[in-house]
Amino acid sequence: MSNMAVTRESFDKVMVPNYAPSEVIPVRGQGARVWDQQDREYIDFAGGIAVSCLGHCHPALVGALTEQGQKLWHVSNVMTNEPALRLASKMVAATFAEKVYFCNSGAEANEAAFKLARRYALEHFGEQKSQIIAFNQGFHGRTFFTVTVGGQAAYSDGFGPKPADVEHVDYNDLDALKAIISDNTCAVVMEPLQGEGGVISPDPAFVKAVRELCDQHNALLIFDEVQTGVGRTGDLFAYMGLGITPDILTSAKSLGGGFPIGAMLTRAAIADSFKPGTHGSTYGGNPLACAVAEAAFDAVNTDEVLHGVAERESWYREGIAAINAKYQCFSEVRGKGLLLGCVLNDQYQGQAKAFLDAAIDEQLMVLVAGANVVRFAPSLVISKADVTEGLARFERAVAKVVNG
Ligand SMILES: *Cc1c(COP(=O)(O)O)cnc(C)c1O
Repeated sequence: MSNMAVTRESFDKVMVPNYAPSEVIPVRGQGARVWDQQDREYIDFAGGIAVSCLGHCHPALVGALTEQGQKLWHVSNVMTNEPALRLASKMVAATFAEKVYFCNSGAEANEAAFKLARRYALEHFGEQKSQIIAFNQGFHGRTFFTVTVGGQAAYSDGFGPKPADVEHVDYNDLDALKAIISDNTCAVVMEPLQGEGGVISPDPAFVKAVRELCDQHNALLIFDEVQTGVGRTGDLFAYMGLGITPDILTSAKSLGGGFPIGAMLTRAAIADSFKPGTHGSTYGGNPLACAVAEAAFDAVNTDEVLHGVAERESWYREGIAAINAKYQCFSEVRGKGLLLGCVLNDQYQGQAKAFLDAAIDEQLMVLVAGANVVRFAPSLVISKADVTEGLARFERAVAKVVNG
């Protein structure tokens, strides 16, 4: 019954309560605009959490989806398929990587990365080399392995025994990392810009030093680019702007531009530790997903779009600075490209959700990153008019929160 009436109350009746969604139920989108069940229009600065990199219903993605949808949807990995091979070839050509593994989400890409790092260390150095070092406040997904590697114990506690030999240190704290890294470390895992943890950039010198420490101890450096990848920071992948190269990179979110897909990229010598049967996924490399992702990758991996990200960042930074000059609620604007965080100052600690709710009332979709940061992750091709109108709505939302 596709005409069955559903409302927000239906969620409470029939959905597992692991989310607390907004009252708004979006039904269609176009570019950076979204309409809800009541045909109320919103400007989208959230991008479905850094996913809708070309906005909603971009013609290139709709075209790729409908074209592939009439050809072949699924064969599973008992056979390979053309869209997967084309997408992998393009990702290999554009990055440090020589090999690609496809899956369906960021968590799955990281799960594959961590399993591969463990297997590689076991094969080449022995079973004592199993330690994974990650960073506090880091986020790597919600499977049990990835949430354990993530840097918030609150998300991994309460599910019984965790995967072992995972340690955490503070992001940007080189001394803490030096104190625990050893020849028993199999991998260091980091986001090249922490997203969920509060939109926190690494010190470039820190990233270089992490790379050197990994080399000294034969540990693999895993970059989780699930949020930063595919143009988000103005580089195709954020590692390119940091001047170092990881050994394994994971991508998802923007990779499919709204169609579920994840990928793990690495060098051939590391990839060889995954042999037939070692790891897999029924849907991984699905032709529909890869056809859409190929179209998204082609569209984003152009000078026009990538340079446009830096230009749009400046529109946001100028607009937010003007708002802050009036209302003085932000202590700084963090992040890079179109992953930006407005950090609430002392007076508004813990109130990021109030800004998000006020924004929805003003017909603007934003994100938070923890309780103290309002986050923007809009379409990489959002128009100047939409940025200007969205920021005008944001100013009204800020005024409401500040004036009480
Ligand atoms: C969102 C995110 C993930 C998890 O991705 P899912 O597709 O939700 O599994 C992993 N790492 C980072 C950095 C993310 O931002």
